[in-house]
Amino acid sequence: MTDFHLFEAGGVNYLFFPSSARLYQLSKAALGTLCRLSGAPHPADISAALRALPHDAPADQAVLSAEPGDLSAELDDLLQKELTVAQPASAAMQNAPGRNGFHSFSLYLAQSCNMSCCYCWNRGGSFGKPSGLMGEQTAQLVTELILSLAEGSSADKIFINFYGGEPLLNFPVLKQITLRLRQQEARLAKNFCFTVDTNGSLLEGETAQFLARHFVQIGVSLDGRQEIHDVQRPGFNGEVTWERIVANVRAFPNRKLLCLRATLTTLSDPYLETFRQLTTLGVRRIQLEYCHETGYQENPVYQELIVPPERQFEELREFLDYYVDTVSLYQNSSDIPFVSSLMDNITRIRRGNRYTRPCGAGMNMLAISSRGEVFPCIAFVEREEFAMGRADTGSPLSLHQTLADFEVDGQVPCHACWLRYDCAGGCYATHYDMTGHARQPHPQYCKNMKAKAEIYLYAMAQMLKKCPWHLERDSDSPGAPYSA
Ligand code: SF4
Ligand code: SF4
Repeated sequence: MTDFHLFEAGGVNYLFFPSSARLYQLSKAALGTLCRLSGAPHPADISAALRALPHDAPADQAVLSAEPGDLSAELDDLLQKELTVAQPASAAMQNAPGRNGFHSFSLYLAQSCNMSCCYCWNRGGSFGKPSGLMGEQTAQLVTELILSLAEGSSADKIFINFYGGEPLLNFPVLKQITLRLRQQEARLAKNFCFTVDTNGSLLEGETAQFLARHFVQIGVSLDGRQEIHDVQRPGFNGEVTWERIVANVRAFPNRKLLCLRATLTTLSDPYLETFRQLTTLGVRRIQLEYCHETGYQENPVYQELIVPPERQFEELREFLDYYVDTVSLYQNSSDIPFVSSLMDNITRIRRGNRYTRPCGAGMNMLAISSRGEVFPCIAFVEREEFAMGRADTGSPLSLHQTLADFEVDGQVPCHACWLRYDCAGGCYATHYDMTGHARQPHPQYCKNMKAKAEIYLYAMAQMLKKCPWHLERDSDSPGAPYSA
């Protein structure tokens, strides 16, 4: 295996090493020499001038001032150094006896919704089954399960995400669970951090006051411009919703807690334009995601909404060039809207952390349905084969074997992939949807992940040059599960 990756972006050639997470910028001459030395295939498009840029810090850049004649020796040394970097250690959790690693719980408070968005991946939380809300009694059992797991957890912060459907349809139960967990914080010496994903239509009055007081993040779905949002996100009976949601966002008591989330489809404005639209609302945390491929592959309407990958990549590149140029006009990041999903990916690469497992589904995070059934994460809810138990039985939770002992180095085809310590095997739930096997990625999935990773690496290199301070900014992320 040639354990590095060569790629071209923005007219520059880059060299990335998976084990060390170091990124180097290469000149045409350095690229040619490297390909000759290593036998690696020469990328078709070589246009940059020679500069090799190694650095000791992970995923960083610095200048190596080699004369062309010295290149073979320098590059040989570089390969020797990089290719002997030890592979990352396994991420398997070592919990002390009687302890666990759970730190994140997603609760389907409502498997029902008051809107009918055209791309909804879980069909208003119902997954096509009869809809319903979590009852008070179930909520009590769920709360006790969380308390008992939190008590044995090695984490100090426990994240509770209210999800749906539309969780604010069930505000009394949201309040009941929040206050009960709050009451127990001192006894358990834990900090419960509450978040909610809402469509924003009910984010008003007492509900808004309560969330502003007790929650650390409120994700509100808003698809950019009014005309687009109203087509993509109509109310349950087809009514328009943009105006009401925007009024709720504007009136929300603490806008710092809000994160606006847009889903991009073939009906949407491009990424950059949607971002511009959302920045006009005075909310600094913005997240844009393309309507993606998990679930309901068989639905032709849904398929038509998926933006073709090449267009996604083009839009992302256009956006990142604009974003980096705009950010670089500032000396610090405090007033700049934060594109949370993109920046999370870029700063994740920048930190150089290596991962051997994709996520903590079922190991340190759980999702619980409105009926009290426990699943590894929100994307596995209502897939009975992955059910881990029930909140009311008191029996130990059992994790599906496929998710139990994954290690990226032991998994085909991931073990030979240059992105393996960043992607770490990808999303089990997406693989399950696309191939029928939670550990088997679809080739198209891998192609998309790698293309996006090249864009993030390129953006990181640009930021290091033009606005390095922006990479130091804390995303204020409440620790939401990494979603591939
Ligand atoms: S899922 Fe695909 S992109 Fe991710 S590590 Fe495995 S082979 Fe690489
Ligand atoms: S990466 Fe996939 S399997 Fe893991 S938590 Fe996210 S949605 Fe679930």
